[in-house]
Amino acid sequence: MSTKEIITAKFGGSSLADSVHFEQVRRIAGSDLRRRYIVVSAPGKRYETEPKVTDLLYRLYDFSQSGSDIAGPLVEIREHFLAIIEGLHLDFDLEGELNAIVREMAQGASRDFVASRGEYLNAKLLSAYLSWDFVDAKGTILFTEEGAFLPEETNEALAEELGRHETAVIPGFYGASASGKIFTFSRGGSDVSGALVARATGSILYENWTDVSGILTADPRIVLNPKPIAALSYRELRELSYMGATVIHENAVFPVRRSGIPIRIRNTNRPEDAGTLIVPDETALKRPGSLTGIAGRKGFAAITVEKTMMNNEVGFGARLLARIASHGLSFEHVPSGIDMMAVVIRADSLAPCREELLKELQEELQPDRLVIEDDLSLIAVVGEGMIHAKGLAARIVKAVGDAGVSVRMIDASFGEMNVIIAVQDVNYETAIRGIYKEINEEL
Ligand code: ASP
Repeated sequence: MSTKEIITAKFGGSSLADSVHFEQVRRIAGSDLRRRYIVVSAPGKRYETEPKVTDLLYRLYDFSQSGSDIAGPLVEIREHFLAIIEGLHLDFDLEGELNAIVREMAQGASRDFVASRGEYLNAKLLSAYLSWDFVDAKGTILFTEEGAFLPEETNEALAEELGRHETAVIPGFYGASASGKIFTFSRGGSDVSGALVARATGSILYENWTDVSGILTADPRIVLNPKPIAALSYRELRELSYMGATVIHENAVFPVRRSGIPIRIRNTNRPEDAGTLIVPDETALKRPGSLTGIAGRKGFAAITVEKTMMNNEVGFGARLLARIASHGLSFEHVPSGIDMMAVVIRADSLAPCREELLKELQEELQPDRLVIEDDLSLIAVVGEGMIHAKGLAARIVKAVGDAGVSVRMIDASFGEMNVIIAVQDVNYETAIRGIYKEINEEL
């Protein structure tokens, strides 16, 4: 039976790690007939110390390249898929598929090709199990021969092909060039494939099924039982994921955002949970003053330049940033005062050119003081409702201070939806706990 409204559902590796999860996916798929297109990841870990199938495939390729015995990874890959096939009583030629991979590798197949086989085989298995069509990402998710992704061509090809299938399972993570060369997205890229399918099929919703009940208000490794965020905007999601909250691939947002399709993050193991809804504009639903979440990252450095009368020296800031850019460095924040300017940069990207850059800045800008502060963490408090929150920045600084931590920098632009502070890496967790305690009720 066909319905006009379509939902695209993407299931992550942990949602398809074993036959019990496949059964759960079948229940979920069948419980809403609007779910017509399913995008899958490769099987994930069944227990903490087990490698994901994608990691085994990378190992398989690397072993074959270095002339090591490929039997080890091949046995593990076979065992993982076989357990699913036997658990579901599927009639599937796994040996034939694995032999094909080994054969292609011997004929010079690429690393991306080998890595993509986890999604390929998992999609084949799920399509057999659900009796849904299998639509390969090769031929529908398109790349140039050099491996550049082609979004518009992909949208057309996917729309045309999927229009011919009432229901279909599509492997995530990869696509191919016109000549058939396989290319993958970056790790976790099945989220991106799901978003592309949602866009191309004009879905009303992109469901992203995983093993958590949504995006949490803070990192559960740092604070106790943070609750899931009920709803947030794309802007807030981008801010939170940029600052380290990793639930969905950063690039998955773009295809659906441009078409205004909401994303719902859901838990395959607890389908009764509402999860987190990500919408184009969520301000209307928000309580005034309410906040959305806290996220952060370690590993930044701040270059601080001080010079009396800096504000009168036209082009000073531009010269500072141009020097930084000439080393191919991008910057994260630029807090400034009348006579000072600081540039916050990722420490790992600064490391190779640090001494040279300092020398150049000294010569070119003739500052009174030039220092680099290392081992900094950035912490962002995010929320579209923030504009109505009075005295928030002051409360955050005080909360961090009360936790015994000094704030190295604060960046809170008017009208923005985040307050960002920097603390030393060693104080990162303590500062987050302090902030969380202060604003928890408003999240
Ligand atoms: N299987 C791929 C990975 O492990 C892609 C994905 O799961 O989204 O990164």
